[in-house]
Amino acid sequence: MTDPARAVVLLSGGLDSTTVLAVVREQGYDAYALSFRYGQRHAAELDAAARIATALGAVEHLVLDLGLDAIGGSALTADIAVPKDRAPEAMAGEIPVTYVPARNTIFLAYGLAWAEVLGADDIFIGVNALDYSGYPDCRPDFIAAFEAMARLATRIGVEGSSRVRIQTPLIAMTKAEIIRAGQGLGVDYGLTVSCYDPDGAGRACGKCDACRLRLKGFAEAGLSDPIAYAASERAVP
Ligand SMILES: [Zn+2]
Repeated sequence: MTDPARAVVLLSGGLDSTTVLAVVREQGYDAYALSFRYGQRHAAELDAAARIATALGAVEHLVLDLGLDAIGGSALTADIAVPKDRAPEAMAGEIPVTYVPARNTIFLAYGLAWAEVLGADDIFIGVNALDYSGYPDCRPDFIAAFEAMARLATRIGVEGSSRVRIQTPLIAMTKAEIIRAGQGLGVDYGLTVSCYDPDGAGRACGKCDACRLRLKGFAEAGLSDPIAYAASERAVP
């Protein structure tokens, strides 16, 4: 009997990457989950990632330190207000201040290095080209270009012992389809953290782009979101 193939899975602790990890496990891979302490203002997602990696049976969960806050330029890493209550059309219109400069390029580069050491051909990332926030590094063109680069950049690519693939199982799915797929795989979305601006108790704001896309997805899937939202508790003045 041969060992299962290995896959590196970028795991943020959010809904999309958690669903990807469940898909990877369902496909029979040994999953190596990779998260980053990159200087994000809210570390709750890293606690979530650790719980999710355990719950979904990752072989290993690696958390790397990257000081992207020293570079700044994003509402997620610098003291810039997170936009609230934006309509979906507004989200699609421009690259928002929650974009972290070159984040997926940086994350995939680390994923590539780990994959090469592990002998993993596949790197999974939960990017999505439909219900997304206008980030340029979530587009299929970007993924294809990174994959081409990865094959040029690595020993495994050049010596032909492997063909590196950047796998994006969610790329053409709506948020509702992602949630339904995860539900079918037994994902507990109560473990996940999506909010860009949670309160002190770790509750989601319900108003940032990430919360709004998530809530819209659950509504369209006909399901209720199991996580706690701060807004619902502020209803009584
Ligand atoms: Zn939020």
